[in-house]
Amino acid sequence: MLKQLFIALCFFTLLSRPALAQNIAEDATNAPRPVKLVPPAPSGTVYIRCGALFDSKSDQLEQNMVIAVEHDRIKQVGKLSPPPGAPVLDLANLTCLPGMVESHTHVFLQGDRKPGQYDAQLLKQSVAYRTIEATTAVHAALDWGFTTIRDLETEGAGYADVDVRNAINRGLIWGPRMQVVGRAMDVTGAYPLQPAYAWDIAVPIGVETVDGIEGARKAVREQLSHGTDWVKIYADRGGRIHENIIDTIPTFTLEELRAIVDETHSERHRVAAHANGRLGVHNAVETGVDTIEHGLYIAPEDMKAMVAMGIWFVPTPFVAEYDAQWRAERAGTQPQESPLLKIQEDTFRRALQAGVKIAFGTDVGAFEWDMSPARQLVTMVKWGMTPAQALLSATIRGAELMQMENDIGTIEPGKYADIIAIQGNPLADISLMQKITFVMKGGVVFKK
Ligand SMILES: [Zn+2]
Repeated sequence: MLKQLFIALCFFTLLSRPALAQNIAEDATNAPRPVKLVPPAPSGTVYIRCGALFDSKSDQLEQNMVIAVEHDRIKQVGKLSPPPGAPVLDLANLTCLPGMVESHTHVFLQGDRKPGQYDAQLLKQSVAYRTIEATTAVHAALDWGFTTIRDLETEGAGYADVDVRNAINRGLIWGPRMQVVGRAMDVTGAYPLQPAYAWDIAVPIGVETVDGIEGARKAVREQLSHGTDWVKIYADRGGRIHENIIDTIPTFTLEELRAIVDETHSERHRVAAHANGRLGVHNAVETGVDTIEHGLYIAPEDMKAMVAMGIWFVPTPFVAEYDAQWRAERAGTQPQESPLLKIQEDTFRRALQAGVKIAFGTDVGAFEWDMSPARQLVTMVKWGMTPAQALLSATIRGAELMQMENDIGTIEPGKYADIIAIQGNPLADISLMQKITFVMKGGVVFKK
């Protein structure tokens, strides 16, 4: 009898476990917490009085504008008079802009240029610890006025970026809207820790190793099943300068790239390609990826193809300057003497001239999260953009790249109330974008 009762109890436990587990999971997501969650947006209408407004619809500033925000969206923009008694945020001494969009970040990297930095993160820090660091990075991004970011791989931290994105979306932690890729893809042997460890010691790798057409399709299917938004591939590696051209070694074959792009597109997602030099960019463009990351050198005919195919260019000029500075310090020379930097500047100017779609992205994380990525706007202006063009690349262009232009990127009725403000005129001094004094995301004030 006792034995029968025991069996019955075990059976009952087995049957009820999934239901119990589901309840716990729901409670964990929805229950109120003792720690402070991101507050909900106010239910009524709030008016923001801006001394000036750059709305990213035009390339001009408009003086004395009022933005009416209802819950999390913008309701009205213009020379409005708030009704008596309505809540007003007085930013009359500030210039308002749309929240910035950063199209190339690494919230799971806390610098990778200095000796031992990268290895320490992969070998000495758990994914749990790195996720805690990532939450401080997203907090910093929002504080600097980036209300949306595209994070381009976790470098050994698996799909923990999906968790960070979800935690932000649930209001658990402060952070920008995010699109994520989880693990980037590269071929066997192309992405080892450097310098190499003894061949008989198994060390982690910052990407998913993918080979062959079948392997490519399987990797895309598996990755997207974990909730990622983009697929990121490394199209090339290495590089040497030859007659003002950067020549790199392609990684994937054209057939492998085609399989990745086809599989990703058929699942209605998109492909970001790290491509530094001539052949890497060419192969990525030829197989129809959606964005070229870095693109230190792009051949004129590939630029033409990018314009014709609508492929985005996300150059990373600040990290180029950072690297040139770093290399010059070690070599005892001046950074402006760097031929690599000159080629990148030339590529940037040619892309601008050719009408390639350019979005703002910096690779922050490759350099530490201790300075605002907005400093790259200064480099982009130095390399030929007008201040307005640079601001558009970091707002509406980024929104278009992420296919979020119906929700973010400009200040106009219907869009999320992602609004930032600075003191002064960014069209006169673009470096002011590094000093954000007000941040609102989805109608909730984060910084004032
Ligand atoms: Zn990167």
